[in-house]
Amino acid sequence: MNVLFPRDLKQLFKALAEPGARVLAGGTDLLVRLRSKPDLSCTLVSLDRLAALRGVAEDSGAGNKGAATGVGPGTLHRVLRLGAACTHAELLAHPLVRARLPVLAQALADLGSPPIRNMGTLGGNLCTASPAGDTLPPLLALGAEVELASTAGTRRLPLAEFLLGPGRAALQPAEILTAVRVPVPGVNVRQHFEKVGRRDALAVAVVSLAALVRLGHGGKVAEARLAWGSVAPTIWRCPEAEAALVGRKLSLTALAEAAALVRAQVQPISDVRASADYRREVAGNLLLRLAMLE
Ligand SMILES: Cc1cc2nc3c(=O)[nH]c(=O)nc-3n(C[C@H](O)[C@H](O)[C@H](O)COP(=O)(O)OP(=O)(O)OC[C@H]3O[C@@H](n4cnc5c(N)ncnc54)[C@H](O)[C@@H]3O)c2cc1C
Repeated sequence: MNVLFPRDLKQLFKALAEPGARVLAGGTDLLVRLRSKPDLSCTLVSLDRLAALRGVAEDSGAGNKGAATGVGPGTLHRVLRLGAACTHAELLAHPLVRARLPVLAQALADLGSPPIRNMGTLGGNLCTASPAGDTLPPLLALGAEVELASTAGTRRLPLAEFLLGPGRAALQPAEILTAVRVPVPGVNVRQHFEKVGRRDALAVAVVSLAALVRLGHGGKVAEARLAWGSVAPTIWRCPEAEAALVGRKLSLTALAEAAALVRAQVQPISDVRASADYRREVAGNLLLRLAMLE
């Protein structure tokens, strides 16, 4: 198996034009897959030496198509641009991520183990497009957009359009994910992530929930964005539950009513990790935790 280490985007796209070329980021998904189904004819193209795909930067929100979260209409909202080749550990340690996007930081802290967080990247997590991928629910709730590049140029897509199903992302052949653009929520937005797995450490999500709740006048919900992992082929939202919370305080009564809507709408599957009934129950129960955000 051949491994190439391009140093800039020109070299990268040349390498990706090779027959059987596959992007290699941290390898924590891809190498596991190749181990179970070896393909010695493929060429792995490593992103490791590409500075253009690393780093976290603050940017104006100009041109962002993703939904604004907690920023008044007409306000130019700030965006954090997260390089696709940033490792989970780098993002988790970054002061801007911790301060502005605690919902993402909470998910990163729960992702895998220290070695996995040191090797695995944000881009790899999104391109694997697993409904159990821990960064997906927070980024979807935040209204993130992905930046994609190929020899044909660059384009942006809302994350919701990028995630097509398990293992399926809207990448064209020889196209790469370069960065994720995340609108920074306003100060009145409460953020929360929680994952339920079969054990405390190194657990794949059985159900997870990322929540962004903007509180308005009198502490009542002005907007709620809720995104569940592991309950559908891709990250799942429940517009009925989001709408049911608007205009109400985050009381247990309001949350229990919204949770009932979640349980009525969600259609999870049973698999080796949990039954559909358990997932449905937990998907509703996770909402009750938002009472502590009041
Ligand atoms: C023991 C173990 C525990 C784990 N625990 C968790 C967990 O708790 N939560 C969780 O979410 N995941 C978990 N994972 C899965 C994995 O670690 C993550 O999905 C990780 O983020 C993958 O990133 P990577 O850089 O290693 O991707 P890679 O394995 O390098 O790549 C994954 C896929 O994405 C493609 N790709 C990668 N980057 C790009 C890019 N920039 N542009 C285009 N295509 C790209 C690759 O071609 C490949 O198809 C675990 C894995 C292991 C082995």
